[in-house]
Amino acid sequence: MSECLFCKFVKREIPTQVVYEDEHAFAFRDINPQAPTHILVIPRLHIENLAAMGTEHETLMGHLLWVCAEIARQEGIESEGYRVVLNTNRAAGQSVYHLHFHLLGGRQMTWPPG
Ligand code: AMP
Ligand code: ZN
Repeated sequence: MSECLFCKFVKREIPTQVVYEDEHAFAFRDINPQAPTHILVIPRLHIENLAAMGTEHETLMGHLLWVCAEIARQEGIESEGYRVVLNTNRAAGQSVYHLHFHLLGGRQMTWPPG
């Protein structure tokens, strides 16, 4: 997906505020943060969203969740608590079609989400 913004971040074609990367995962700060900590955790692999996930991605998805937990530790939001959000398609408000977990923390969250 040459035109995908998040693929361009992964390939370092466009600079962004990287907080973590490894062989399969990449994480950076959201440009429009909705909480004091707002980080996007994505696979290096271009997958549109959860609806496009196949069984071949199960290990990868588990790894991405571990990365969320690891970054939450690094950011010091683990004990207070944090939220991980995965928007899928239009009604959920997905605006970038490269799968991303939102890691949100540093403030009290409300429920139900908007
Ligand atoms: P979603 O609406 O769930 O698809 O989330 C997309 C997220 O990407 C939003 O929270 C945006 O603020 C974020 N975003 C869009 N463009 C950029 C960018 N250039 N750098 C960092 N985050 C971005
Ligand atoms: Zn992509």
